[in-house]
Amino acid sequence: MELRSASVSNHSDDFRRRETFLPFSPPYITEEEIAAVVDTLRTDWITTGPKTKRFEEEFAAYIGAEAALALNSCTGGLHVALAALGIREGDEVITTPITFASTANVIEHLHATSVFADVEPDTLTIDPAKVAEKITPRTKAIMPVHYAGHPADMRPLMELARQHNLYVVEDAAHSLPAFYEEQRIGTIGDLTAFSFYATKNITTAEGGMLTGNGERIQDSRLWSLHGMSRDAWQRYSKEGNWFYEIVVPGFKYNMTDIQAALGLVQLTRLQAFQQRRRQIVDRYNAAFSQIAALQTPTERPNVESAWHLYVLRLKLEQLSINRARFIEHLKDHNIGTSVHFIPVHMHPYYRERYHLKPEDFPVAYAEYQRYLSLPLHPRLSDQDVDDVISAVSEIARRYRR
Ligand SMILES: *Cc1c(COP(=O)(O)O)cnc(C)c1O
Repeated sequence: MELRSASVSNHSDDFRRRETFLPFSPPYITEEEIAAVVDTLRTDWITTGPKTKRFEEEFAAYIGAEAALALNSCTGGLHVALAALGIREGDEVITTPITFASTANVIEHLHATSVFADVEPDTLTIDPAKVAEKITPRTKAIMPVHYAGHPADMRPLMELARQHNLYVVEDAAHSLPAFYEEQRIGTIGDLTAFSFYATKNITTAEGGMLTGNGERIQDSRLWSLHGMSRDAWQRYSKEGNWFYEIVVPGFKYNMTDIQAALGLVQLTRLQAFQQRRRQIVDRYNAAFSQIAALQTPTERPNVESAWHLYVLRLKLEQLSINRARFIEHLKDHNIGTSVHFIPVHMHPYYRERYHLKPEDFPVAYAEYQRYLSLPLHPRLSDQDVDDVISAVSEIARRYRR
């Protein structure tokens, strides 16, 4: 596989700028994934079939979950999870404003009510004390997000769920693989949804996986494919038959064997990916912790983060530029960045439907204005990492107040 050249040129001062743009998060696909996809295309099973089944089994074994359900996205996983748990109109589901919109969108799809609870300042994951304040007799579920790969504080969240008889559905789009205390993410709440979107820690281009106990996964499986009592693979295989029944008005969220072929190969590379992610994080942390205007991300002692994102926070009072300008300067230095996320409560739909103001979630709002995500993926060369470090350091130094 080709790693980007580390070519640099002399700039007007002694700062050396990259000559090629460093993309924020490209997928890492090798000949092995390509061969697996081509091999699948040469068989008679291109949609949900034996490879999807094997991917589910290997993923469940990897996580240590009782069962797993492969889907076409994490969003689909969150949607079927809530549907399978019976969430419906009139129910309230508590989630975090610091997430991708799909976490809350699926609550809306079921005509239930999204209730937001602010995040903790260090991890930017949902604050259990704020969740407690939002629980009403209508609350049915809590949806924590393991932001950037760092697990939410699951012990108090599970305790609240037990006390108030609530379900816990985890958005683990960022947290493959992660641990909370001794438990692997994917084995704690009622159902957990992972993402294999192109930018995630492993990818199937589009895809997702739901983990949980056998019964909940069985219910979710029904909801994920039309509510049909037998799936297509069983029906059309030699021992199958033509009869099926629609028992709930389900969705069409199944994974294809083409995607599963990609996923099976990516899963074997996950350990190596994670080692590289951690090395990069260590190098970023060592460099940026020396710079007063920067705040490096936290990893609490009782967790192991999946390090999906490296979220740098600017101490704006020590800089003469804001976050938007900082990003523009990084772009001028050929460094791709992103912002995770525009808080959900600030998007027009949520703002208007629930009459929310940015300051209603003061931690989320304040942190949103000063965070940006730097490139963090296993394809980065040491030179790429050095380029990011020198560009960030140079901008922080030049615009120091
Ligand atoms: C990517 C992402 C999702 C959605 O994943 P898809 O597989 O694209 O549906 C959900 N939540 C968070 C926090 C994400 O980053």
